[in-house]
Amino acid sequence: MKSYSVKELLDSKNTLHEVTVKGWIRTFRSNRFIALNDGSTINNIQCVVDFENTDEQVLKKLTTGAAIEVTGEHIESQGKGQNFEIQAKKIVVLGESNPETYPIQPKKHSLEFLREKAHLRVRTNTFSAIMRVRSALSFAVHQYFQQNGFNYVNTPIITGSDAEGAGEMFRVTALDAKNPPKTEDGEINYKEDFFGKETNLTVSGQLEAETYAMALGKVYTFGPTFRAENSNTSRHLAEFWMIEPEVAFLDLDGDMDLAEDFIKSVLKYVLDNCKDDLDFLEKRLIEEDKTKPQNERSEMTLTEKLHFVVDNNFKRVSYTEAIEILRNCKPNKKKKFNYIIDEWGADLQSEHERYLVEKHFNCPVILFDYPAKIKAFYMRLNDDGKTVRAMDILFPGIGEIVGGSQREERLEVLQQKINELGIDEKELWWYLDLRRFGTAVHSGFGLGFERLVLFATGMTNIRDVIPFPRTPQSAEF
Ligand code: ATP
Ligand code: MN
Repeated sequence: MKSYSVKELLDSKNTLHEVTVKGWIRTFRSNRFIALNDGSTINNIQCVVDFENTDEQVLKKLTTGAAIEVTGEHIESQGKGQNFEIQAKKIVVLGESNPETYPIQPKKHSLEFLREKAHLRVRTNTFSAIMRVRSALSFAVHQYFQQNGFNYVNTPIITGSDAEGAGEMFRVTALDAKNPPKTEDGEINYKEDFFGKETNLTVSGQLEAETYAMALGKVYTFGPTFRAENSNTSRHLAEFWMIEPEVAFLDLDGDMDLAEDFIKSVLKYVLDNCKDDLDFLEKRLIEEDKTKPQNERSEMTLTEKLHFVVDNNFKRVSYTEAIEILRNCKPNKKKKFNYIIDEWGADLQSEHERYLVEKHFNCPVILFDYPAKIKAFYMRLNDDGKTVRAMDILFPGIGEIVGGSQREERLEVLQQKINELGIDEKELWWYLDLRRFGTAVHSGFGLGFERLVLFATGMTNIRDVIPFPRTPQSAEF
């Protein structure tokens, strides 16, 4: 007897006669109809139970959440809503559930409730759809880079450099927390720690990726990243996955082209390959929208939004132009922003980014040439001496999705910057070596994978697009 996935049974061109399928019961109604799902698709296959000829003990165990094996005839469906169904001949209960205590009942649960049940929430339509889209997006990320001549590099997760400067770090130590070795000054003596120095979880693989780009030409990382920032927002995780391409001989314009082409390409992959899941998520969004006030409802459906991004050019705007727009916009003049923009040099808050993207331009925006003062030390200084070749990509509903730059390739300029910031050159000796031996123009960016998944699925809280979210005060599972 051949075993099939639910997807194979539903997508089949013709009836397959006697088949076996295993999955979990979503619902069992009228003592006759099992909706069976095995995760291969958002859709369930209907298994019609032969009530008269099924053991009463088995019938009792056909409850939501139970794992079963069904053998029967794969036939064209009599009922509406599906092409095929199974006329069950034999049902084996592989793993019972308990209808009284199983948390995932066949009714609508709030996303908050399901977050507390992260080990079971993927058994719902919403989370299984999100996680299949997430998986497809990961594949698309690798496919894009592999087809375009990039090498995948694995940069370290434990880092010994504290100059990455992208956020607060989590310390990695093997010292006894209750009784750490002390120096003569009473400080913790990290010389006695595992690595003989202070180490942390990485906040970005960029600096190490640069070393590889300066030999392999085009590289990318795609791995876990950690930030101990205590920002309990719907767009920040303490552990997230970042995609960081780095390319030798590429300037900022090329970097913007790469980022735009990359994002469009992976979203197109999802449009082409995740139709059933997108349809479901789109309907979910329409339902969710109905609960919102009129003015907060989205004008486009999920697939329209994805097509819009794939089919239109991102708007490229310099920081200086953006400041002018913001300075003169209504919410700024009427003091509706929490942070009023009055001077060039101000750091943009997410309220400003969202105004530009959602109100002013109404499309993805690439902001470039930021003031040096508000950006990282490694970004290339422009000839004006006050801006750097940085770019951020801002997305509707999300805000910043990409942060990138052309890197400072001139040794003296980089050294001066490091000294101004009070960073010890010795910390970065290997990074500076790249500028000593065969330096060249190079650029890259970092894209937060979960923010991309947010956009692709139409979800609004980043905790709902990663299997087990890590946020302040929360590391269950
Ligand atoms: P933000 O201003 O949103 O905190 P950032 O300026 O700190 O972002 P970068 O250091 O440029 O971000 O990191 C590159 C990308 O990584 C960001 O554009 C974003 O997509 C993602 N990212 C940054 N911090 C987080 C986080 N805590 N959780 C999830 N994604 C993140
Ligand atoms: Mn941040």
